[in-house]
Amino acid sequence: MRIVRLQTSDGVVTAAQTSHGFQRILGDPASPLAVDPAAAELGDVVEGEVLAPVVPGKIVAIGLNYLDHIREASMDVPQSPLIFTKFPSSVIGTGSAIRFDPSEIRRVDWEVELAVVIGRSTRSVPAAAALESVFGYTVANDVSAREAQFADGQWVRGKSLDTFCPLGPAIVTADEIPDPQRLALGTRVNGESVQESSTKEMVFGVADLISYCSRFFTLEPGDLILTGTPWGCGEFMTPQRSLRDGDVVETWIEGIGEIVNPVLAPAA
Ligand code: ZN
Repeated sequence: MRIVRLQTSDGVVTAAQTSHGFQRILGDPASPLAVDPAAAELGDVVEGEVLAPVVPGKIVAIGLNYLDHIREASMDVPQSPLIFTKFPSSVIGTGSAIRFDPSEIRRVDWEVELAVVIGRSTRSVPAAAALESVFGYTVANDVSAREAQFADGQWVRGKSLDTFCPLGPAIVTADEIPDPQRLALGTRVNGESVQESSTKEMVFGVADLISYCSRFFTLEPGDLILTGTPWGCGEFMTPQRSLRDGDVVETWIEGIGEIVNPVLAPAA
């Protein structure tokens, strides 16, 4: 099932994306995570603005987790997952603008990532059972202000600006993605492909990441794990590239969909 959140004239509605359009999920679940995809019944077709499909409690992000990205960055393969965070206030939906002040924020980059939506409270889970904690998957763009990221010694400021975590368009429930390590994914900027890879390039797969994180902190329903980005970031191109006012960024994952975000960064 593909679950979306819509802003309608009646407020925020949880709906399923079907061949008939968006259909309200009956039983009026308060959140996408309250939907039982095996038992959900669909009601009338509804229209509205597509919002980010989940309001995350915390966003756990993983750095340097694709072999092709580690090669382009000339880094060593991490011995264990490199964890950082993005503030939940950075989340926007498809269609919303990535905004920044170009006089203060420079070298803004794209990063397509498979985002794992946690469905149950999870602590100290072995990798063999970890996928049972997954509610579903969505597309994330881990937008990164490289100057701030590399100036600070840690990455929170450069990763957590308002609007720097586009998510969506839907949560595809885990039953429809039995193997998250076989998905093509990529990014286009103004229609030009800049990232294209496969989740099979991950150093630590989804099950290992959930298991590792759960050794140190509890993963709660609605938390997200952003699983890292493949090669093709503008920062590592020759010459370097970055996002500018008027650009349009599309990030996509096979079987999930794509999110489209314009860049709004006018010079003062
Ligand atoms: Zn990232």
